[in-house]
Amino acid sequence: MTTKSLILDGAQVADTIKAQLTKRIEQLADKGVIPCLATVIVGDDPASETYVRMKGNACKRIGIVSRRIQLAKDTTTTQLLDVIQQLNNDPLVHGILLQHPVPSHIDERAAFDTISIDKDVDGVTTLGFAQTAFGIGAFPSCTPAAIVAILDAYNISIEGKHAVVIGRSPILGKPVSLMLLNRNATVTICHSKTQHLDQIVKSADIVVAAVGRPKFVQGDWIKPGAVVMDAGYNKGNIGDVDYDACLRHASAITPVPAGVGPVTIAMLLKHTVDAAERTRIL
Ligand code: NAP
Repeated sequence: MTTKSLILDGAQVADTIKAQLTKRIEQLADKGVIPCLATVIVGDDPASETYVRMKGNACKRIGIVSRRIQLAKDTTTTQLLDVIQQLNNDPLVHGILLQHPVPSHIDERAAFDTISIDKDVDGVTTLGFAQTAFGIGAFPSCTPAAIVAILDAYNISIEGKHAVVIGRSPILGKPVSLMLLNRNATVTICHSKTQHLDQIVKSADIVVAAVGRPKFVQGDWIKPGAVVMDAGYNKGNIGDVDYDACLRHASAITPVPAGVGPVTIAMLLKHTVDAAERTRIL
């Protein structure tokens, strides 16, 4: 690229979303409602601890109550389902987040699917995923929602573009693919068994990296002028794309940190406020 790439400033997009939420939180307070996000964490995984603390702090800064439920690592599936059911029945709780991963002896899918659809603010339930697929859901997964929100904030058109998504996890790769498809992109989903990945990526107008491998996407895979969305977050604040190399080819790119990450948290806050508002309408 001869022209300079646009750095998609996730921190700024997140600030704009949070500024819009402040007014809505005040209006809810006038009606006696304080949005509340309950986070359930099972065991003592240090990375999960950090994520939960970051989300809790973000809630507090904006006036959302953050309720943390810490469970021992030997908690059974039945005990976890009971805790989630209690939160479903608690009218003071508007959103429920079960921190992933849970210990391997727990049936994680059963736990996710116990979350009430009205409180599934991270789109983790089977029903929430299906609603995202149909384009009717209230709460798509937060990272996919963040990726689309950044594209929209910068008026980057999706319709008719070839989007290549690398990764097919239920929380990221698959839902973002469906969201882009619903916005009339032509979507190719790649995974660990994909052949000729570099050639496929080279045909993309929009590349979404959701691989979980640091600096995985190489600069010479990027078609000149493509838009690169890096959802990756690896140890040492490193994304899933080789940022400096991709920057040379992309027309626009998200950095790590301060790209998709802060907007993901802003979407979680937004979904919690949305859920609280819906309790006033229902
Ligand atoms: P995941 O569940 O481990 O999924 C990774 C996906 O990448 C899988 O579909 C896997 O394919 C694919 N993959 C792995 N190696 C590959 C290869 N060599 N070639 C092509 N595809 C390959 O990870 P995830 O939860 O979706 O997270 C992905 C990344 O996003 C991570 O860096 C994570 O930290 C980050 N993340 C960020 C946020 C945020 O807020 N910014 C939130 C969530 C996750 P298979 O299906 O074939 O195994």
